[in-house]
Amino acid sequence: MPIMTESKGHQHPISLAISDIIGIFGSMGFEVAEGPEAESEYYNFDTLNIPKHHPARDMWDTFWLKSKPTEEDPSTSLGAGKNAKQLLRTHTSPVQVRYMESHKPPFRIIAPGKVYRYEATDATHEAQFYQLEGLVVGKNISLAHLKGTLETFFSKFFGAASTVRMRPSYFPFVEPGVEVDVSCFRCAGEAGKQCSVCKGTGWIEIMGAGLVHPKVLEGAGIDPHEWSGFAFGAGIDRLLVLRHGLPDVRLLYSGDLRVTDQF
Ligand SMILES: [Zn+2]
Repeated sequence: MPIMTESKGHQHPISLAISDIIGIFGSMGFEVAEGPEAESEYYNFDTLNIPKHHPARDMWDTFWLKSKPTEEDPSTSLGAGKNAKQLLRTHTSPVQVRYMESHKPPFRIIAPGKVYRYEATDATHEAQFYQLEGLVVGKNISLAHLKGTLETFFSKFFGAASTVRMRPSYFPFVEPGVEVDVSCFRCAGEAGKQCSVCKGTGWIEIMGAGLVHPKVLEGAGIDPHEWSGFAFGAGIDRLLVLRHGLPDVRLLYSGDLRVTDQF
């Protein structure tokens, strides 16, 4: 009798990474929030302090959707402001605003989800990818809280003691805005140019973050004089590519079992 072998299915590496991430942030008291992938211009841009015609919009190459006629009509019950134009969300940040509008602070959330950019793909970019949004709103929240939270996360996710450094940057929905670098989990800067992860710098550029802009809080009905918060956004695919040393992010979407079976 021939022996029948059957291969069992399993979760995709990205799903596994998202489970990991939810577990780590869950241990720090974060809940998971979700929002729609087909989003309105209002939530994707306007409420995030990126008004129409503002040059900052060029930071996100956008897939616009054909709106249903009723949604463009200012007289609809939906309201012109919130539904004027539809798009595929370019980041998970709209989830922040939707959550703030419907919850009272203090709160801690993460929002992992799929986002879309109208751009050519290469080894480090996909036109669709997964982003991890984080938001904390409370009393006297500072960049120190952000640093501590991220160091805990990276230490657990990469399995090596991690430190975080911040460099000044600009994102319209945070003030101040920072680029976050994490210490190299592979070599901690010891391997010099031999290290394929950090190329000898000892640091990995990993995400954008900052303190939530008072205008964003106010727009979502939260008094910025009473409450403050931090937010961050990272590519989940990129975290995964780094952790496992994948040569090309597109491998994750190739459907190639020789790749996914390794997880
Ligand atoms: Zn290194």
